[in-house]
Amino acid sequence: MSKKTAARVDPLSLALPLAGVDSHAHLDGQEFDEDREAVLERAHAAGIAQVGNVFLGPDDYAARRGLFDAHPEVFFLMGIHPCDGQTCTPDRLAAMRAAFAAEPRLRAVGEIGLDFHWPDCPRELQFQALREQLALARAVERPVVIHCRDAEQETLMVLEVEGFAGYPLLWHCFGQGPETARRILRNGWHISIPGPVTYKANESVREALAIIPADRLLLETDAPYLAPQPWRGKRNEPAFTVFTARAMAEARGENPEDLWRQCGDNARRFFGL
Ligand SMILES: [Zn+2]
Repeated sequence: MSKKTAARVDPLSLALPLAGVDSHAHLDGQEFDEDREAVLERAHAAGIAQVGNVFLGPDDYAARRGLFDAHPEVFFLMGIHPCDGQTCTPDRLAAMRAAFAAEPRLRAVGEIGLDFHWPDCPRELQFQALREQLALARAVERPVVIHCRDAEQETLMVLEVEGFAGYPLLWHCFGQGPETARRILRNGWHISIPGPVTYKANESVREALAIIPADRLLLETDAPYLAPQPWRGKRNEPAFTVFTARAMAEARGENPEDLWRQCGDNARRFFGL
């Protein structure tokens, strides 16, 4: 890679076979209101066969799911984010349960978890919302997708204590090192890698990547956040996963096309697509 990482390479110039999956994106957000159709077209042209759109709770799901009526390649996740713990009321839990029962496109409960990064997210409410939604996932028989920021030990402890070892679970937006990866893997869970794996400073994530078994690895954008190089700082979108995949393949000494297909197959198996 040249030193001028600011050169904004067109992702379509690095398109991969139509077999990839962006496991986690927020394309229902207003950041995409101007050009959602073009974003989905570019994703397809870059090699993304399926995209998991994450609705942050039942209100967003009800209001915005229609945005994807003409896009069967978009599957759905739904969960109350830890920083919205106060909205995890019995009414909303019941609405989520009904939605999961009625809609097969809803493939996972998430993102749920713990986030101690923001001081104004009361922790007790976070723990409660996490436990209640873990119970929901069991009740509706769907996999779990975990959001965890600055709360690795606490999150792992809740999941282990609640008996989720061996349950289909994906650690979204993995940003830690090999030690955390090992504990996630020991529990039988999957790991999804976002764009920051392309940032120079994230050597520990690349070290962790080297020890993740090929059949436990997924990739994602978390769009509109966390754009990979060379688009860092801009709005992220699914087509940019071609950069993420290349960085991942390099860290693992693999061919990008093989890694792309493998991560796509893993996502299809994990979400039952
Ligand atoms: Zn997210």
